[in-house]
Amino acid sequence: MKTGSRPPLLFLASAVCLLQLPALAQETPSVPAPGTPSTTSAVISSAYARDPQQPIDQDYTAKIKQYTTEPYFNSPLTDYLPASKTVPTPEKVLGDVSGAPNMLPYAEDVYRYFRLLAASSPRVKVVTIGHTEEGREMIAVAIADESLLAKQKENDARLAQLSDPRTIHLDDKVAAGLVQQSFPVYYITGTIHSPETGAPTALMELAYRLAVDDSPYIQYIRSHMIVLITPVVEVDGRDRMVDIYKWHRAHPDENYPRLLYWGHYVAHDNNRDAMGMTLDLTRNVLNTYLAWHAQVLHDLHESVPFLYDNTVGDGPYNAWIDPILAGEWAEIGWNNVSQMTALGMPGVFTHGDFDTWSPGYLMFLAAMHNGISRLYETFGNGGADTEKRILAPDEYERTWYKQNPPLPVVEWSQRDNNNYEETALLTTLSYFAQNSQQWLENYYLKAKRSIEKPDSSGPAAYVISAADQSSSRRAELLQVLTLQHVEVSRLSEAATVTNKPENPTKSSAAAKSQTFPAGSYVIRMDQPYSRIADALLDRQYWAPDDPQKHPYDDTGWSFPDLFDVPTVRVTDASILKAKMEPVADAGAPEGSVSGSGAVVAVNNSGEITLLGLRYALKDAKFSVAEQAFDAGGHHFAAGSLLIQNAGADALQAAMKDADVEAVSLGAMPSVAVHHAPVPRIAMMHTWIATQTEGWWREALDKLHVPYEYINTQTVSREDDLRSKYDVILFAPISRANTQSIVNGMPMWGNPLPWEKTELTPNLGRIDSTPDMRPGLGESGVEHLRDFVRQGGLLVTAEDTAQFAIDEGLAPGVFVNRGEKVRVVGSVLGATFVDHKNPAAWGYGSDLAVYSADGMAFTIGDMTVPRHLETEKDYQRPTGRGGPQEADIPQGRLAVQPETLPSPKPWEATPLNEEEARNNPYLIPVQDRPDVILRFVGAKDLLLSGLLEGGGSIAEKPIVVDAHFGQGNVLLFANNPIYRGETIGSYPLVLNAILNFDHMAKAK
Ligand SMILES: [Zn+2]
Repeated sequence: MKTGSRPPLLFLASAVCLLQLPALAQETPSVPAPGTPSTTSAVISSAYARDPQQPIDQDYTAKIKQYTTEPYFNSPLTDYLPASKTVPTPEKVLGDVSGAPNMLPYAEDVYRYFRLLAASSPRVKVVTIGHTEEGREMIAVAIADESLLAKQKENDARLAQLSDPRTIHLDDKVAAGLVQQSFPVYYITGTIHSPETGAPTALMELAYRLAVDDSPYIQYIRSHMIVLITPVVEVDGRDRMVDIYKWHRAHPDENYPRLLYWGHYVAHDNNRDAMGMTLDLTRNVLNTYLAWHAQVLHDLHESVPFLYDNTVGDGPYNAWIDPILAGEWAEIGWNNVSQMTALGMPGVFTHGDFDTWSPGYLMFLAAMHNGISRLYETFGNGGADTEKRILAPDEYERTWYKQNPPLPVVEWSQRDNNNYEETALLTTLSYFAQNSQQWLENYYLKAKRSIEKPDSSGPAAYVISAADQSSSRRAELLQVLTLQHVEVSRLSEAATVTNKPENPTKSSAAAKSQTFPAGSYVIRMDQPYSRIADALLDRQYWAPDDPQKHPYDDTGWSFPDLFDVPTVRVTDASILKAKMEPVADAGAPEGSVSGSGAVVAVNNSGEITLLGLRYALKDAKFSVAEQAFDAGGHHFAAGSLLIQNAGADALQAAMKDADVEAVSLGAMPSVAVHHAPVPRIAMMHTWIATQTEGWWREALDKLHVPYEYINTQTVSREDDLRSKYDVILFAPISRANTQSIVNGMPMWGNPLPWEKTELTPNLGRIDSTPDMRPGLGESGVEHLRDFVRQGGLLVTAEDTAQFAIDEGLAPGVFVNRGEKVRVVGSVLGATFVDHKNPAAWGYGSDLAVYSADGMAFTIGDMTVPRHLETEKDYQRPTGRGGPQEADIPQGRLAVQPETLPSPKPWEATPLNEEEARNNPYLIPVQDRPDVILRFVGAKDLLLSGLLEGGGSIAEKPIVVDAHFGQGNVLLFANNPIYRGETIGSYPLVLNAILNFDHMAKAK
C-alpha cells in the first residue's frame, strides 16, 4: 500500500503498492551477496526443527528449493513441506507448488483448495463471510487443533464477554478467569490490493502447514490459538489481475495492460474505506473480525523490499488509540524483526515512513475496535514472473532500523515472496501463541478502557440535536456509525448539559449550557467501540512543524464537518444519566408524505436524495421552486421540489427510501418554478485511471441515480453528445494533466486491450476497449465544446477542472497558484457567495469541504490571466505628505487619478474604460463566471487536518459556474464526492444535475 497521500500517482495507478509492474520476464544470473549467511545457527535450527517422524513431500520440497533464488531467502520453517497421506497440498489445485513461477490462481481455485483442506482435515473450517459488489464470494478459513475448533463456540462466548466488559460489570477478577480459559483468534487478510499477488498461494501453504505439520513449533501454534484467514479480500480485482497476468503470459513479448479496475468502484483506495464503510469488502471483514472476536487484524501487502512489518511505522500515531496498542505494536513488530534477522533473512524492518494517523486502512478496523492492527509489505513482482529487481539507494542503504538491509540487486521470485510472508507469519504466530494470555488481557483491558472513556480522557458523548432538521445526511452519518458497530441512543426526554470550555488555557472562556430536545441522538462514549466514534466525530490537527513531513494519507476527516451534520462534543458526563433508549437501526430511512393533495412538496435542505426521487418517480411531473415559499404550514427553501401526477403508494415508498418528509399541498404555490425533466447523465472516464471517478459511481449507484458510463474514446467518436445527454460528469482522475487526457498513452508498441475474451473473462465488464492507449483527442475536446455550447452541463473537479480551463471551456476561470499553501487531505471552511445558483440551493451559509492539496480558483473578466492594478497593489511614491497622502507635483494643478478597484479575493478585478477599450478578450457580462462557493478567511480556514500558508488561498473561489455558449461548466477545486466521506458536498453536484438547464444567468 505504498503510496503518497490521497490517490496514487497517476502513471503508477496500478502499481502503487509495489514499486513497478514487472518488466518482461528475463533470465538473469543469481546475484551473489557477500557476507550474507546462508545457514542459520544450530540453536536456531533446532528451535524450528521439523518432526523427524513425519515424512516430507520430496517433490514439493525440491520445487521450493528450485524456485527460491537464494538460500537466504528461505528459512527452516518453510524450506520443506511435510507429507500427508490424507490432506492435499496446494499442488493439487495449483498444479505446482505455492509461489511457483508463471502462474496465479483465481479466487475460486484458492477457495477450492481451502474447501479440499477443510474436507480432509478436522483442523480446518471454511465459512462464507459475504459477497462483493460484483457478487463474488468472500471466505474465511479457521485453522486450529480439532480440540480447539470443537470448543470454539464456548471460547467465543468468553471472548464476547471480554470484548464487552459491561457483561461482567467490568470485574477484573471475572475477566482474569475468562482469560485463563480462553485462546485467542488471529485474523490474516490477503490481496486487498490486486497487483500485490503473492498472498493467496502463501496463505494456502501456510494453512496446510498449520493443519499438517507435526513439528513442536507448529503444534504449539495450532493448539493455542485459532488462525483465521481471508485469502482474497478484493475478489473482483483478483480475478481481473489473474486475467491480466494470463494475457501477459500469452503475449510474452508485448507490453500488457495495467490493471485499470481493481474492485467494482475503486482500486488502491479499497484500503482507505475503514472510516466510511462504503465497500462490501470493508463491511465483510469488519463483521468477520468482530463476530470471531479476533485480537489481531493482519493485512498482507506487497511493495517494499523485502519485508516491511509496518506495525511500528512512524509518528504521528492516531490520536484516539489506546496507548496499550502502541506498546503492542512495538513489542510484536520488533520481535518479528529480531526473529527474522536471526533466521538470516535480509531486509526485514518495522520502523519506517508509514504514519498511523488516519484510521482509513483496513487493518485499522482492529485498532479502532480494541484489537491490534498489523500490516506486512513484502516484495512483490506484480505477478509471478521471476525477475531481476534493482533497488533504489534509500531502499538498500543501512539505517539504524535496517541493520540488515535489503540487497541492492536481486533476482526475485514469487516463491521468495511467499517464503518471506509465511516465515514472518509463522514466527509472529508462534510469539503470539506463546504469549496468548497477555493479548487476551490487553483485549479486555482496551475494551474496558474504551467504556471508561467518559471518566478518563472524555468526552462523555457526542450528541446530534433533534432541534436541527432531520436529513438524509444525518441518516448517512448514523448509518456509518451503525456499520462500525457503534451503539446509538435517542433521548426520551430533553437533557441539559454544561460543557467545559474547549480551551482550558483561556481563563476567560465560560462553561456553556445547552439543551437537547427529546429525540436527539446520543453516541455514548461508555461503550466498547467508543474509539472509532470518537475518531470519526472529533476534529484532527496536524501541526505544520510536525517532524513527519510526509503524511501518508489524509490528515483530516472530521465527519460532522464533511457530512454537514452539526454534532456536539459533550464533556459533561451528566448526559450519560439522561433518559435514553438504544436505537436498533440508526440511520434507517424514515421519510413519508403527510396530508393529501394534488401537489407534493419536498423541502430542499441540502438533501442527497432529491435527485434520486426524480428517477424513482420518473413519470411524475416535477417542478423546482426558484425561490423560498411558505405553504401548508411549512417553509420551503429555494430549490424545493413540487411533484404532481404521482401515485400515492409510489410517493410513500419513494419518500421513505429518500428519507425526506414530504408535504401534500392543495395546489401549486404561487412561486416562480421551472419544469425539471429527467436528466440524462453520462459519466465519462479515461483509460488512464478510474479510481477517483469510482467514488462518484459508487455515490450515484447508492443514490439510485442512473447514468450511462462512457469513456473519452466514445466522446472522441460521438459528434452529437447533446442529443443523447443533458449532463456529462467528468470526475477527477487524480493528478492527470490536460495533455494526457487529450493524448492518452503513447501510441508506440502494441495495443493494450481491456476486453472480455476467453482468455480474460473478467475484463471489459465495467467498460471495454480494444486499446487503452488513445485519449480524448482533439475531436473529443471539440465534441465536448459543442455539447456545452448547445446547452449541456459539464461537471468537472480538480484535474478535470484544470482540463476544462486549459481547453477554453471555462472563460474567466483560472487555477490559483497558492504556492505557499500546504494542505494534505484536510477539511477546510467555505462559505457561499451566491445562493441563487441552483447548485447552492438548500444550503446554509457555510460548508466544510475536503481539499486534497489546497487547490483554488481566481476569476477574471477576461479570458486571459492578465494582472490588473488594484488598490491593494498600489504603493505611493517618494514625495510630499504622509504615507496615506498623495504626492503633488509642484507648479501645476493636481489631477485626480482614476480610482483603483479593490475587488474581494473571490471577485474579478473590473477593467477601467482604458483597459476595456477594443479588448477582444473581455468577456460579455452575461458570460462571466459565477462564483458559488469560496474559502473563508485565513483565520477560520482550517477545520481539520494540516494547513500551512492558508493566506494564499483564503477567500478564493472553489466552486464556480462558468458559462460557455448556451451551456455551463461547473468547476470544483475540491473533490465533492470522495471516499463516501464528503456527504455534505454531494448536493452541490446533485442540485446542478437536477437543474442542468437553469444554471445560467437569465440572458
Ligand atoms: Zn498494498
